[in-house]
Amino acid sequence: MIVIASSNGSIGMDAAWQILAAGGSALDAVEAATRLVEDNPADHSVGYGGYPNLLGQVELDASIMDGTSLRAGTVGALRGYRYAISVARRVMDELPHVMLVGEGAARFAAELGMAAEDLLTPEAAETWRAGIEGRDMIDWAGIPELVSALLKRSAGLTSDPEHVTGTVNFIAQDNAGRIASAVSTSGWAWKYPGRLGDSPIIGAGNYADDRFGAAACTGWGEAAIRASTARSVVLYLKCGRTLAEAAHEAFDDLRPIMRGTNNAMNLVAIDRAGNHVSLTTADDERTYVFRRDGMANYDELPRTLVAME
Ligand code: ASP
Repeated sequence: MIVIASSNGSIGMDAAWQILAAGGSALDAVEAATRLVEDNPADHSVGYGGYPNLLGQVELDASIMDGTSLRAGTVGALRGYRYAISVARRVMDELPHVMLVGEGAARFAAELGMAAEDLLTPEAAETWRAGIEGRDMIDWAGIPELVSALLKRSAGLTSDPEHVTGTVNFIAQDNAGRIASAVSTSGWAWKYPGRLGDSPIIGAGNYADDRFGAAACTGWGEAAIRASTARSVVLYLKCGRTLAEAAHEAFDDLRPIMRGTNNAMNLVAIDRAGNHVSLTTADDERTYVFRRDGMANYDELPRTLVAME
C-alpha cells in the first residue's frame, strides 16, 4: 500500500491510510483525502477558500482516475460546490462522459443533492481585491466589459507565485494493487473566467494505469497540457524506463515550454512496483508527503530539483 501527495495533502494522509489499511480501495482513499483538503479554508489553492478568478468567482477544477479500468471523471470551472473531486467521481461512476464544465457541472452537482454554497471566503476575497485594486484596472462602478483587456493588463497578477499557484495531488495503491489518482484545485488566482488548467485534463495533470503506474502535477497547468506530462510519465514507464527515468524524461519534454519563464512544474509519481518519485523545477525547497507499508506515519520529503535552463 502506498499514498503519495503534494505537501498540502498532508491533512488527508491519515484518512487515506485508514481506508487502505481497512482493505478499502485506492479510489475511495484518494477521494476521501482530497475532500479534506477541499474543506480546508486555509488552503487557498483548493476547494472552499480557494482564490477566485479575475471577476472574484471561485472556479474549481478536479479529476479522478481509476488505474484498473482507465475510467476517469473530471469537472472544470465548477462554481458553488466545494467537493469538486466527488462531483468528478460521480461523473466517472454515473455518466457515460469523462468531463463536465461550468453550468453543466454545477447542474449535475445539484442533481446529486450536493450542498450549494459561496466558496469565496472573506480572506480570499481580500487577497483578490488587493491584487486588483491600485492597479487601476477595474471600474468598480460596474462589471468590466472587456475582461480580456483587463487580463492582459493584469499579467503581473497571474504570474505572482505567492498567490497564484497550488493544487492537491493524491496517488494511492491499495492492497489489491489497484492504483488511483486525484487532483483538485481552484486554479490560478485571477485567471480568466472559464480558464481550465491541467488538473481536469486527463493525461495532462493526472493519469493512472495499474499496469505501469501513475503521475499527477501541480504548477503551471498550461505547460502540463502542452506536454501531456502525466500521461508521458506513464507512457515512458510502459516503454521500459525506470520511474526516475520516466519522470525526468517527461520533464525534459517541458524544456522548450518552461525555458525563460518564472513558472514552476511539480510532479508526484509511483510505479506499480511501489517506487515513488517527486520532481520540481522550483528552487525553493518544495516538499511532498509519502507513506507506504511498514511506516508508522507519513514522511515529508524534499522534491528533486530539475533545472530548466
Ligand atoms: N496546476 C494548477 C493549474 O494550472 C495550478 C497549480 O497547481 O499551481 O490550474
